[in-house]
Amino acid sequence: MDKKKIPYLLIGCFLFWLSCSSLSFAADSTPQTMVELRILETTDLHAELVNYDYYQTKVDNRIGLVKTATLINEARNEAKNTLLFDDGDHLKGNPLGEYLARIRGMHKGKTHPVYRAFNYLNYDAIAIGNHEFNYGLGFLMTALKGAKMPALNANVFSVKTNKPLFTPYTILKRNVVDENGKQYQLNIGVIAFMPTQIMKWDKANLEGKVIAKPIVETAKEFVPIMKAKGADIIVALAHTGISSEPYRPDSENDAYYLTIIPGIDAILSGHSHSVFPGPVFQDIKNTNLKTGQINGKPVVMAGAFGSRLGIIDLQLWNHAGKWEIVTGKALTRPIADENGKALVKTDKGLFRLVKREHEETVDFIKKLGL
Ligand SMILES: [Zn+2]
Repeated sequence: MDKKKIPYLLIGCFLFWLSCSSLSFAADSTPQTMVELRILETTDLHAELVNYDYYQTKVDNRIGLVKTATLINEARNEAKNTLLFDDGDHLKGNPLGEYLARIRGMHKGKTHPVYRAFNYLNYDAIAIGNHEFNYGLGFLMTALKGAKMPALNANVFSVKTNKPLFTPYTILKRNVVDENGKQYQLNIGVIAFMPTQIMKWDKANLEGKVIAKPIVETAKEFVPIMKAKGADIIVALAHTGISSEPYRPDSENDAYYLTIIPGIDAILSGHSHSVFPGPVFQDIKNTNLKTGQINGKPVVMAGAFGSRLGIIDLQLWNHAGKWEIVTGKALTRPIADENGKALVKTDKGLFRLVKREHEETVDFIKKLGL
């Protein structure tokens, strides 16, 4: 070989190696299939379907699912893939709920207006909260017949069967699209919990009929089962608040401890009517109020009475056939400003759907002369 050509050959080899290695680097670092999944939460609605204060018989724009519904529609329009969940305590807590349960009763075969509203808004699943027991098991079971979506709870067990009283979890098979519009099936596991204190709070309705198992232990038991059944990701509808007090099996607010369970990817918290992310939680350890994460997991709690919509935005990618969460952020959006001025319009379709029971409740209260 001509000795003069050797340096050129070496340079050629080096450039070839460089191009190969940079190609392989590009292949490794390019995100594959990126899918954005938006999870929406309402919680602790306490039967506040309409923006109305029944005690003062006047409009109140700080409450009401008819307002939150507009935020739900806006949040859905902004995202390609969305899911909507309610985190429980939706049947009781205002005169409309009382009127339906204790005065008028459920009309046979008719859907409770709360579940009529949930059906109209196409909730994907709902949690049963502790207040759902306040009118007795009979009323709850009758009302639940009208809910078209899975109504979940994993930690309340029937004494008779020693099995969960409700459907403990579900795996939603949803078609999602990536940023290029390509479609994939994602299996979203959804599980729900409530405080064990129901045995104290609703002793008369529940004693001898059900037992409540600790939330965290129940979660640890069910998560591997859900994974084995094909859940790609798991969302916890945790009707429990947020506290980093040392864990006890009978503690009421366990959402913090759900964040450290492997396999749980997003937590919808509730029960304590607080707002997360929000300043009241600034002292909770390992918490990022900017991203809405606790221990690196997205957590949201949307206040109460429909005052806010909770949003968790997940970014997932499919890595070697397995879905992994890349990022998860949480935030809430309010329906009114601090002075009670409405920030969104009323969903008129939803209002029409629940108008009858709303007006009956107002008439009833006026007759009582309250
Ligand atoms: Zn509650």
